[in-house]
Amino acid sequence: MIQTDGAFGRPTRHAPPLLNARHAEDYWQQATRCIDLVRRKMASVDRPFTGAHPEELKRLFEGIDLDAPLGELRPALEELERVYLDDAVYFHHPRYVAHLNCPIVLPGILAEAILAPINSSLDTFDQSAGGTFIEQSLIDWTANRIGLGQDADGVFTSGGTQSNLMALMIARDHYGAALADHGDNKHEGLPADYRRLRILGSEVSHFSLQKSAAILGLGYQAVMPVACDDHFRMDPAALKARLEECLAMSLIPIAVVATAGTTDFGSIDPLEEIAALCRAHGIWLHVDAAYGGGLLCSRRYRHRLAGIEHADSVTVDYHKTFFQPVSCSAFLVRRRSDLRHVTHHADYLNPLCQAEAGTPDQVNKSLQTTKRFDALKLWLTLRIMGADALGEMFERVIDLAGEAHDELARHPAFEVLLDPPMSTLVFRYRPADLCETELDELNAYVRAALSRNGEAVIAATRVDDKRYLKFTLLNPDTRLEDLTAIVERIVHHGRAWCEAQAPTRAAAS
Ligand SMILES: *Cc1c(COP(=O)(O)O)cnc(C)c1O
Repeated sequence: MIQTDGAFGRPTRHAPPLLNARHAEDYWQQATRCIDLVRRKMASVDRPFTGAHPEELKRLFEGIDLDAPLGELRPALEELERVYLDDAVYFHHPRYVAHLNCPIVLPGILAEAILAPINSSLDTFDQSAGGTFIEQSLIDWTANRIGLGQDADGVFTSGGTQSNLMALMIARDHYGAALADHGDNKHEGLPADYRRLRILGSEVSHFSLQKSAAILGLGYQAVMPVACDDHFRMDPAALKARLEECLAMSLIPIAVVATAGTTDFGSIDPLEEIAALCRAHGIWLHVDAAYGGGLLCSRRYRHRLAGIEHADSVTVDYHKTFFQPVSCSAFLVRRRSDLRHVTHHADYLNPLCQAEAGTPDQVNKSLQTTKRFDALKLWLTLRIMGADALGEMFERVIDLAGEAHDELARHPAFEVLLDPPMSTLVFRYRPADLCETELDELNAYVRAALSRNGEAVIAATRVDDKRYLKFTLLNPDTRLEDLTAIVERIVHHGRAWCEAQAPTRAAAS
């Protein structure tokens, strides 16, 4: 006799492992095993990374035949532990201080446990229902914290890169729509003078500006770097000069991108002054607050974003300074009608009549169609913890960066580039008597040695063509002692490098 499913009256003999009423119990049991694996890992991870090299990890994949399934969860998890978890990079570890990856708050992870199985797609209301209103209320909440005004709107995105692309696309199309002899870019393509369009961002703005310009058909040549002051903030006088240069050369500046928290230095461009220049020249102002957005939750440091409310559009990455799991990010505009440049009505999905009837389809504002319900993570976080708690976590790492700076600045063998405006610290190990080439080699060696030994994961960058090391601090659990311990290891590896070089140097002199 064929067994039937009580709910649907369908045969169950070959029931595929789909999440449904029949498998809810299995799901729960198996999910528990996955969670338990993570729990064991969290308890046992004693360093941010094992230091495995790519060729060592690649070897682990030899002999794995994707056409020969293991059939069960247990062996698959054992294999996964071996090829992935054992050598994963653990951002929650206090000595992971490399990139803008944050440790993640529990409500955000718990939200993943709900949004993944329910699997709403936030493109149309008829695929997400209440999820649409959750996303929209977080957009409104963020716009309100920024101070964008009553007409603001926006959409969740996959990250700052996509948000910046949207900003520059809309700025480009906003310019195109205003031309007398041109319909709009959406229908007609780029205007005849497209080679003269320019995007102005500081010389340390994010590389996604260049990528966006290329994608938008303007090319890297369209991005005009604006000089910074010695604190890596866009110099308003240099911006003014650039704008005048554009006029003199018949170039057309369509957007200025101010960065509120540069990736390397955490520097915040002078938003008020830049906004005034944009207003005077009638140019789109985009504020890239992918990193600095977390200041919106900080009572003590919110004032550092003063002027952000003048922006025409803003990028905020919740997966950086709001301690959310990847991906969780938003793009916001001051005037909701500007989002029409990304709208396309498809009969099968979001017909015009549906929009006219007032159906809130997020796809009308998005580059994506099928879209994860990432907003739920921030929602649950705000509903459980609240914004102040997030702001205090960010404040803690900002304060830590200041303390680490003071400590490192006292150390005779270190050069610290600047007093940190946010939570990154850029420095290099600089013992006496080494030339620039040697300092570059030494600092590269030190960074690799720290990673290889699993002692710490730190970042590197180039400033004035010199190699620097970087701590990006986003973990409120990282203590000053963790950083001093890393500094001691830097000195240790640095001395070892100098000793190894000594014979060569003696021979050379
Ligand atoms: C991280 C970052 C981006 C890119 O964001 P993703 O989420 O990684 O795509 C853009 N701008 C700045 C200033 C950033 O720090």
